[in-house]
Amino acid sequence: MKALTFHGKEIIRHETVADPGIEQPTDAIVKVNLAAICGSDLHPYHEREKGLDHGTVMGHEFTGEIVEVGQNVSRLLPGTHVLSPFTSNCGTCFFCRQGLTSRCVKGELFGWVQNGKGLHGSQAEYVRVPLSESTLLPVPETVLPEEALLLGDVLSTGYFCADRADIEPGGTAAVVGCGPVGLMAIIGARELGADAIYAIDAIPERLRLAQQFGATAVNYKEQDPVALLRENTDGRGADAVLEAVGSPAAGRLAFDLIREGGTISTAGVHTEAQLAFSPVEAYDKNITYRIGRCPARTYMEQLLPLVVAQKYNLVTVISHRLPLLQGVEAYGIFDKKQDGCTKVVLKP
Ligand code: NAD
Ligand code: ZN
Ligand code: ZN
Repeated sequence: MKALTFHGKEIIRHETVADPGIEQPTDAIVKVNLAAICGSDLHPYHEREKGLDHGTVMGHEFTGEIVEVGQNVSRLLPGTHVLSPFTSNCGTCFFCRQGLTSRCVKGELFGWVQNGKGLHGSQAEYVRVPLSESTLLPVPETVLPEEALLLGDVLSTGYFCADRADIEPGGTAAVVGCGPVGLMAIIGARELGADAIYAIDAIPERLRLAQQFGATAVNYKEQDPVALLRENTDGRGADAVLEAVGSPAAGRLAFDLIREGGTISTAGVHTEAQLAFSPVEAYDKNITYRIGRCPARTYMEQLLPLVVAQKYNLVTVISHRLPLLQGVEAYGIFDKKQDGCTKVVLKP
């Protein structure tokens, strides 16, 4: 099959690799209808996250149709359209029972093979899904494939980010970063009752989308977001900060924006060794800080009714629809945010 594979820093190839096959009796093989490129793919792409084997099939966002199942799979039939979280999960371990499916003891991240171990990704014609019955979710007919794709990661992750920010009805939230995850975090903040939502970025088209989703857009290159938030909260700062970037600068901005006693919720993947603020600073502000990988399997199911209800025009975050064949170019466009690129969907 054709796939996008990793070959070192900023080197992606579109090449022929072996078709995945059933390895475990709980596996399913999914024919990928749509795959997306995520901000998370950029961390190994730039080797900020290190260790990915050369030849690994990239990507973890996909939707498609089951074409083959292992002998222990009885609840999913070939022909079923499914969406998937970006990690597999067993559904029965300590963490899965708590809903923390992203920390399943048997879980694997799609698109991460290291020292020959791990799981190939979904920017390909086919993908092997381990623990398929507890990982995959059938897509209802009323849900568009692109909506299913967004639900599998960015909608779930954005909502999760908001859900952990202790948002109270009437409160003020600041969203740092208006990539697809930050944009979906705005939806989460709205759903959870935030009164004022300030969305911070420096890319005009992303700020425009943030406005469409109901936030006040703040271009941090033109306006000081910390001063603005203070002005609008009697000098305090934001009650909740939703950080959806994953960089020291964004971590620091989140800290500077939060009021005393507020909560910072970080969905951005951080690759640095230290937080952007000190224990002393955290103490002196009485902050709560939450960070981690979204248990997307849990949130997918919870948020499906929101998608079915068509309350938000989610697919407006998708700016580019390209064939998998143009995947290498697509990485460049998405990485450099060229041509108004917010989210790329690839079609094998
Ligand atoms: P993206 O790269 O498309 O978006 C990041 C945005 O942040 C860009 O619009 C950029 O202009 C903006 N930005 C950069 N520096 C900034 C700063 N200092 N202040 C304000 N804005 C700034 O990425 P994405 O797909 O939206 O993902 C966002 C982050 O979420 C990434 O780190 C990704 O790895 C992470 N992520 C985490 C999970 C999880 O489970 N926690 C899941 C998916 C994605
Ligand atoms: Zn993703
Ligand atoms: Zn588990």
